[in-house]
Amino acid sequence: MSLTPRALGMSRPISRRDFFDGVAVGALGSVAAAGGSEPPQDAVPAPRPFEVRGGTAQALSVPHALRDGRFWRHAGPPVPTGEKYDLVVVGGGRSGRGAAREWLRRDPRARVLVLDNHDEIADRPRGPFRADAVMCDAETFGADTFVSLTADWIGRLPIAPDARRDLRALHGDPPDWFPWLSPEGKQERLAELTYSRFLLEVCAAHPDVERFCRTMSSAEWAYDTRAFGAIDAWATGYPGFDGLGLDRAKPSRLNSPTVRAAGGDPEPAADVPVRMSSPVVSVREGSVGYFDGHRVRTVEAGAVILACWSAVVPYLLPGLPEHRRRALSRAVRMPLLQADVRLRDPRAWRRLGARRVRWTGAYWCACAFDPPDTVRLLAAPCRSELGPDAGAAAGRQELFRTSYERLEHTVRDQLARLLGPVGFDPAGDIEAIAVHRWGHGRAPEYCRPWHAFYPDGPFPADAARGTFGRVAIAGSDAAPVGRSGAADAAAVRAVEELWR
Ligand SMILES: Cc1cc2nc3c(=O)[nH]c(=O)nc-3n(C[C@H](O)[C@H](O)[C@H](O)COP(=O)(O)OP(=O)(O)OC[C@H]3O[C@@H](n4cnc5c(N)ncnc54)[C@H](O)[C@@H]3O)c2cc1C
Repeated sequence: MSLTPRALGMSRPISRRDFFDGVAVGALGSVAAAGGSEPPQDAVPAPRPFEVRGGTAQALSVPHALRDGRFWRHAGPPVPTGEKYDLVVVGGGRSGRGAAREWLRRDPRARVLVLDNHDEIADRPRGPFRADAVMCDAETFGADTFVSLTADWIGRLPIAPDARRDLRALHGDPPDWFPWLSPEGKQERLAELTYSRFLLEVCAAHPDVERFCRTMSSAEWAYDTRAFGAIDAWATGYPGFDGLGLDRAKPSRLNSPTVRAAGGDPEPAADVPVRMSSPVVSVREGSVGYFDGHRVRTVEAGAVILACWSAVVPYLLPGLPEHRRRALSRAVRMPLLQADVRLRDPRAWRRLGARRVRWTGAYWCACAFDPPDTVRLLAAPCRSELGPDAGAAAGRQELFRTSYERLEHTVRDQLARLLGPVGFDPAGDIEAIAVHRWGHGRAPEYCRPWHAFYPDGPFPADAARGTFGRVAIAGSDAAPVGRSGAADAAAVRAVEELWR
């Protein structure tokens, strides 16, 4: 049963922070959440150079005004700063800082500037999400049932008896679904399906099985199994594939790059100063313009590396051939949402006896305890039933419209449902909530069954990359692979292109 907003503590004075694509859109302070989280339109104080956190909420609206053709109508003439650099890097994420570091490695005396429109850096490596408990939630099954994934957990699921039988078979001893096909033929067949379709159409599993499994991919991939490919589900070890006789230790060429490269923690990102809250608005031969919160400032640049989101590049760099503009626009990032909830008293979570909990259909699809006192919740707004690209665009629109108040309500509601039975008081036990919304979050990646041209090509990213005068394109979108290693490799490649 849902608690009232008062019992959930919606009016309690706590620290509330709302970040949208890295830009603080509401340090909502110790007051009740007022709702409404659209980024402010007015300019706020100019950034101070070379600090890692800036302050302009204007940053988010600038790229959108550029995209919509509104920016230059009001921007006024650019004003030179008088600064000269050998290299200007646009985007201070992992790839941008990696490019700066690589340039400085080759020329330690070079003058390098990194500009970013965020007021915090997005990259937050977190390993694969391996749940040790599942909340079979009311949104999916009509009532909440918390199930630890310990002995005979299938027997405790609130699903139909036939679904329990099917799930046991999928986990235990599934048959060879395609005995007439060669190993390569089986992989080709899996590459035509999403995991949800595999469960329902190939395994003919009870619909409760698909409903139970649906969010297995959400925390890691930012979309659920209605978009996640069966070929990647097989290589990741999802249930149902053991009877096929395929060797998971040898991933298929049809697996997406992240699955093929699985394993290993990311190396630490390069530590390079970034001029934050400085959205770049124009890149010309020898000059880069950015908005400082009041006006456009320009710096001179011997070379430029664009390590921002690829889809932004056509708006910065006029004159790019049409086929490259189109290819760059096809790099669609997945929206992601993370809420960091600091608890006054973490003992309730300890009593729960689980560290990482997957939810089957509620707004937040996963939550995990980060000692000593923080719970992190993840949500994947992608409308997975539309596939990764169309689903990301639709989910991002939804994310823009969602108020902070609704997000706080869902956070409190889900924590109350999860931890209430072990003594948690959502009104009194929460000290602070910070919501990070990444409209442009996880980098795009080619995957089956959605990108029929994968793995043989030709790839949009190949057409998008390459130099344009003294400008090169880095960023994981240019790979395109949503992994830290891809961002690092793209950085080195872009520097190499300019040094040739
Ligand atoms: C929440 C989250 C968690 C992740 N977790 C993992 C993980 O656990 N393991 C893993 O391998 N990978 C993870 N990734 C993916 C990994 O972070 C990325 O592959 C990598 O960090 C991307 O680096 P990047 O530099 O290409 O892009 P970003 O880090 O997105 O950097 C691009 C930067 O460009 C800036 N920018 C955009 N437009 C402009 C403009 N006009 N002017 C100036 N700057 C601009 C943006 O503000 C942004 O900071 C995660 C990504 C996210 C969002």
